[in-house]
Amino acid sequence: MKEKSKNNLLKMTKKNTELNSLLSSLPGVGPKITQKLRNINLSTFKDALFHLPYRYVDRTKVTKICNLNLNDYAVIEGEIESVGVVFSKRRTLICRISDNYGSVIIRFYKFSNSQKSQFIKGAYIRCFGIAHRGKSSFEFYHPEYSIMEKNNLKPLDTTLSPIYPTTIGLSQNKLRDIIKRVLDHLCQTQTNANVKPFNSEKLILNQFSSYEALKFLHNPPSNTDLSVLESRSHPMQKILSLEELTAYQVSLLSERKTIKSHTSKPMFRDLKSEGIFLNNLNFKMTSAQTRVVKEIADDISSINPMHRLVQGDVGSGKTVVAAFCSLQVLLSKKQVAIMAPTEILAEQHRLNFLEWLSPFKYQIDLLSSKVKGKLREKVYRKIEDGRTQVIIGTHALFQENVKYNSLGLVIIDEQHRFGVNQRLTLLKKGFNGTNNCKIIPNQLVMTATPIPRTLAMSAYADLDFSVIDELPPGRQPIKTSVFSDQKRDEVIKKIQDIVIQGNQAYWVCTLIEESDAFEAEAAKVISSELQLQMPALSIGLIHGKLKAKEKLDVMDRFKRKDINVLVATTVIEVGVDVPDATVMVIENAERLGLSQLHQLRGRVGRGSKPSYCILMYGKKLSQLSRQRMEIMRETNDGFKIAEKDLAMRGAGEILGTRQTGDIGFKIADLSADASLLPLAQQNAEEIIENNPDYGQKIINNWLPKGNEFSLA
Ligand code: ADP
Ligand code: MG
Repeated sequence: MKEKSKNNLLKMTKKNTELNSLLSSLPGVGPKITQKLRNINLSTFKDALFHLPYRYVDRTKVTKICNLNLNDYAVIEGEIESVGVVFSKRRTLICRISDNYGSVIIRFYKFSNSQKSQFIKGAYIRCFGIAHRGKSSFEFYHPEYSIMEKNNLKPLDTTLSPIYPTTIGLSQNKLRDIIKRVLDHLCQTQTNANVKPFNSEKLILNQFSSYEALKFLHNPPSNTDLSVLESRSHPMQKILSLEELTAYQVSLLSERKTIKSHTSKPMFRDLKSEGIFLNNLNFKMTSAQTRVVKEIADDISSINPMHRLVQGDVGSGKTVVAAFCSLQVLLSKKQVAIMAPTEILAEQHRLNFLEWLSPFKYQIDLLSSKVKGKLREKVYRKIEDGRTQVIIGTHALFQENVKYNSLGLVIIDEQHRFGVNQRLTLLKKGFNGTNNCKIIPNQLVMTATPIPRTLAMSAYADLDFSVIDELPPGRQPIKTSVFSDQKRDEVIKKIQDIVIQGNQAYWVCTLIEESDAFEAEAAKVISSELQLQMPALSIGLIHGKLKAKEKLDVMDRFKRKDINVLVATTVIEVGVDVPDATVMVIENAERLGLSQLHQLRGRVGRGSKPSYCILMYGKKLSQLSRQRMEIMRETNDGFKIAEKDLAMRGAGEILGTRQTGDIGFKIADLSADASLLPLAQQNAEEIIENNPDYGQKIINNWLPKGNEFSLA
């Protein structure tokens, strides 16, 4: 080994041990703080180093009270003019502070006696906080403060202050202090010899460069332009984004390589059985479906495991494609597992598979939270000894107790609802063979969310692609119209007319609050209102607070037409199939993003009858919402909608929150940094080829624990 690289290796090893030091080893970090830190996933020095501020405040100068602006973060200084404790709803400590230019009030709703005794009339105090509107002057609630001697003031900050994501009981000050000590420590022990200027795209290959960027972002010098930082366009941010995106690419691409290097049992097509399957369908497959079936079949018959994403707009008929390909695997005496995001969908799949595979007499079992106790034990046993060949369920499928007999194909429906992690766990369940020669199941991932190419490249770089770009014949485009809430009566009239013609309707309530309980409550109110307004019709209700069984019951009754109008929260978003439901009303449609609206709308227009979507809006539409409604009215094409959505709202919405939540980028932002993606991919290929150690290092640094996609 050359002397220089040996040295580097030594340094790296040393650095790695330091990075893995526990935060609890720092003086002043006891068990209580350690637990708080753990709550936000901070255990090691490395975690702290990569825990980046989400914004900054400027505490490098004192603002005169007369120059304060509403809602500004500011440092003020002055004398305590008066102190008092008032007892209204809450016991409150109030101080008035004045400099020579004006006065403000500071309030504490929680305070100790020792704190109270610090506030003495005439004392000199420096505060930092937000200037809120008060009765007679600005007010600061629970500002950070220190009492000082007027002629012996502490120095002000020289760098912008980072504001970190934190948790209750762990103050910014404490967290900032911990991170600062970690930085001081790491930077002391780190040689700067390897740090090159930040202007080269190849910089990513420089092992220590990112530390400098991280250090900078934890404490930007006071002359740094805050607005540049806030718009995430600072070169230091770009460098780190690039490194992070590269880490993901390295991980996904090596995952792909690993998978491709394994073998799977080749399973061949059997045309006779395929003929029986097709004859048993009451429709003819579209040419897009046939094409995708062939792409999948080729994968399955090869010795390399399949790892494929099927994209197809809502209603394009992905399920039957999945069933057709399952047949090929089943005929080779291997098991098939199908994972769906909801119980409703799993049950729907079970019924479809039962019907479509009926000529072949396979045992199809459901595994979801609905299947309990003895029955569940029995299903486990049947899966383990191979009596069950098709297993359909929710994420229950990859829980520890489930042992597959010989898994040949894993199908994951509505992939965007699951994380990368979940799909890999299920895949790993099917591993077979020795360590050197793994035989792994084929994997088919399906999604109805059309994903623009750039995004697909980054989020699914490990997968091959198939697209079902055609709807079954006879589908009529869904006619979308936009109504103000004021015209509710007109909408209700429309619904009644449509139901009289033998059709059904969804009425979707949306709320801003992220709470199921809230949404459920609102849906209840709306359903009783609608029942009053349409007394002759049967109004049903489904929401996230119902038990799994209750939800299935409601859906059953809707399918049987016991229910004419189904009031629903967004739980119906995915995959529910009721051909006679031809109208969907979406209340407060302005609150939803394009992709979500499109997914919802896809619940209608599933048969050959004309279908309608009515978007209702609550208050005056903003420019952006107006634009969204316009796009919805103009097109039914999911890909067009996805492109627009990416432009308007960013990647999170397209991939679904779970997906990005799971990817959990620390700094990269798929829409702001989209232009870095091709570079990240290029870098990744080069790293895998020439510098795998470095690849492993950035994966370790950037990817959340346990999310490294290595199958080794
Ligand atoms: P998605 O792609 O949204 O999952 P589904 O698989 O649920 O769509 O299919 C939607 C509906 O279209 C189902 O009722 C299904 O039986 C039906 N379908 C699928 N393929 C065809 C086809 N080629 N012709 C007619 N109907 C079809
Ligand atoms: Mg589907």
